[in-house]
Amino acid sequence: MIYFDNASSSRPSKTCLDIFYEESLNSYGNPSSINDFGRKNLTNINRIKNDILSLLKLNKNDYEVIFTSGATESNNLAILGYCLKNKNRGKTIITSKIEHESVLNVFARLSELGFNVIYLDVKEDADLDYQNLKNHMNSDVILVSLMGSNNEVGTCFDTKKVHEIVKEFPKCVFYSDLAQAFGKIDLNFNNFDMFGFSAHKINGIKGIGCLIKRKKINLEPILYGGNQEGGLRSGTYPYPLIASFNYTIEESIKNFFSSFKKVKEISDYIKKEVGKHSEIEVNNEFATNPYIVSLSLKTKKASVVVEALSNKEIYINSVSACNSKSEDPSYVLLAMGKEYNIAKNVLRISLSKENTIEEAQEFIKELENVISSIRS
Ligand code: PMP
Repeated sequence: MIYFDNASSSRPSKTCLDIFYEESLNSYGNPSSINDFGRKNLTNINRIKNDILSLLKLNKNDYEVIFTSGATESNNLAILGYCLKNKNRGKTIITSKIEHESVLNVFARLSELGFNVIYLDVKEDADLDYQNLKNHMNSDVILVSLMGSNNEVGTCFDTKKVHEIVKEFPKCVFYSDLAQAFGKIDLNFNNFDMFGFSAHKINGIKGIGCLIKRKKINLEPILYGGNQEGGLRSGTYPYPLIASFNYTIEESIKNFFSSFKKVKEISDYIKKEVGKHSEIEVNNEFATNPYIVSLSLKTKKASVVVEALSNKEIYINSVSACNSKSEDPSYVLLAMGKEYNIAKNVLRISLSKENTIEEAQEFIKELENVISSIRS
């Protein structure tokens, strides 16, 4: 089989599964217990948090790590938690039109709760007009939430520029959903006041992620219970998942450049080959994240092509996993100014360091076969 749906979820590495297995079997004590068997796990969790901060070149006096179930929860805790806690400081919050639903739906809820919500437009290349962001900034803005890399088209906002703009407004913080950016594009994590990501997008296990934030930022919890994570995220610490996630993060940062180079060669090849095909439009020629290739079919139905490839054990997706069952066109491509038909018939190929050029060659061959065999 050929697995080209890594942005939906990627294969966990054997080592991260081994760590999970060993720690589950041998270190199952509750980290919040006062006996040594449980307590040693909390000591390890605190060590892991420090290791993660050093790896990401973040000062542990300024930043802290909160483990969550994944990027959806990190986005909710950061955005909802921050706005609920800081509503007296201002009522305006800013995001973009192409964020993931786990950001957009939180913003929609905050709008219902009385916040003044601004959704920034994107240009044809899915980038922001940074002057437009600047124009919207004022002393009432308390949060700017802009993703590191888009899940449908792999385009990246300039997070350094956003940081430069936001830092002029002391009441405002910059949050970034890095679910598709972490380990995939080169980032300076010091540009963020808060950011979140999850393990399963970077060859780790599903069900674990984190929110990293400046210590001085106060949040309202979204879960209430036993007050773990300083009261910000109640629930028994999943120590085996945390230990495994630590390894996943280390590997992803350590192998960043070699993985990037390998994946870029594959995605450049796919874009070049499909670019020759009159039936196909490449939607993200300009994307700096090579892990995602977005194509549109000019006259064929994307769902039919995805299914036909699936029958040949070639697994790609249409739009993104969260939206692929919807009949609606891609809101990301519509925001980029694409026509309805192009926005509706999208193929998303998402790669990992485990993929090969040979797989890409096989994919191109089968894609051409499938397209020529189905009627418009
Ligand atoms: N943000 C983005 C950009 C994503 O691609 C995803 C995963 N589809 C999420 C957030 C949610 O991540 P998780 O599955 O870890 O909750």
